[in-house]
Amino acid sequence: MQVDPTIYREKIPFKRLDLDAVSVVKRLNRAGHIAYLVGGSVRDLLLGRKPKDFDIATSARPTEVRRLFRNCRLIGRRFRLAHILFANGKIIEVATFRRNPEEGDATSEPTRHASRAVNSTREKRRAADASQVNRDGQDLLIRRDNTYGDPHEDAVRRDFTINGLFYDIQNGQVIDYVGGVQDLRKRVVRTIGRADLRFREDPIRILRAIKFCTQLDFGIIPEVYDAMVDQRLELRRSAPPRLLEDTMRLLRSGAAHRAVYLAWDVGVLGMLFPDLTAFLEDNAFGDHLLWNRLIAIDNICQEGRLPSDSVLLAALLLEPIQEVLQTASEPDRILQELFENLTRSMALPRRMKDRINRIVMVQNLLQQGKLRGLMQRDFYFDAVSLFELQCLARGVELPEWISSGAVSERPARSRSRRKSERQ
Ligand code: ATP
Ligand code: MG
Repeated sequence: MQVDPTIYREKIPFKRLDLDAVSVVKRLNRAGHIAYLVGGSVRDLLLGRKPKDFDIATSARPTEVRRLFRNCRLIGRRFRLAHILFANGKIIEVATFRRNPEEGDATSEPTRHASRAVNSTREKRRAADASQVNRDGQDLLIRRDNTYGDPHEDAVRRDFTINGLFYDIQNGQVIDYVGGVQDLRKRVVRTIGRADLRFREDPIRILRAIKFCTQLDFGIIPEVYDAMVDQRLELRRSAPPRLLEDTMRLLRSGAAHRAVYLAWDVGVLGMLFPDLTAFLEDNAFGDHLLWNRLIAIDNICQEGRLPSDSVLLAALLLEPIQEVLQTASEPDRILQELFENLTRSMALPRRMKDRINRIVMVQNLLQQGKLRGLMQRDFYFDAVSLFELQCLARGVELPEWISSGAVSERPARSRSRRKSERQ
């Protein structure tokens, strides 16, 4: 079906684009395929930010992409994506346009209506909402794999309007099926279609809404905010490893302080870390160190010194863990329970759990400057990172043994590090 996008002429200077991504798009175009930049890179380019990565959406099927690029690897068993590999480990992801099978199945009527009423953004949005309205009360969680679609279908399956834009490099134009350009101008996070339904389809989007709003300093429209509150319990239905990964993304975003606060405000923090929210509620006046630690994390991330995931989680959970260590009659058992919850809800790997435990346990020794025996341990650097965060949070000077270089500086973490190395 034909749905016309709004086209914005927008010549983004080549020097702001990734040259490898440009060459991939050009080669796809030369072979007769549609190929656009999509998602986060278009959003960030239009906001004047430096994109983290440059993803490409194309009409070419994965095998066609592979035929065009020698440096291509197909990944994914059911829905195949092409990864084009470049020097320094850079990967450009090329995905064939796809659609939500559920959405397509339930929407043939309203989408026909949409093809007639295409002109205003509001009408497009209404059509997208109508396409989901009959799905109230159903189990909407997306479990099946996606199927191929056209550019319009590919845009509307995405999460937020600001993430649903295409950039056509060849013609220097932004292709907008979802009202994303207007929302970028208004600086708001809005789901594509009805917020409650989109969150029920994939509750991880609630965490993503928190990330975009806090990282970009955007507002959330009231409908989306209310749906985040109403649908937060759905997070229990998300795959635990995705919950962990998107929670870590909040902590690594450079806006961890605002993200954790918003997550608390929306009621999501209690879904992720019940022990932490219980602590915050019991200690309304004593919780400032947590917030200061999160500010310290943001400052450190902005300097390009990303702490490991274990340090980030330990910094988040320090007070509830210390409370157990200091007050519980059977601290081991209670801590076990605390971590058990995280293992169940977020698939927290055992290695990470052990490391968090260790680095929290030795904080007292570091406080007393008792480094002997610790320096050889593999968790030493993480323990010191946590200690440093705590000093920054307290506003006290770093002890001489940190500032004098007893701890060698660990190199900034590269984004391509494997998951196992992050712990
Ligand atoms: P970042 O700059 O943090 O990477 P991003 O928007 O690029 O942000 P990615 O996780 O890299 O986020 O995803 C790329 C794109 O895929 C998004 O911009 C969005 O269009 C789409 N997307 C990602 N996750 C979802 C989801 N859960 N539901 C729908 N669309 C999604
Ligand atoms: Mg991205």
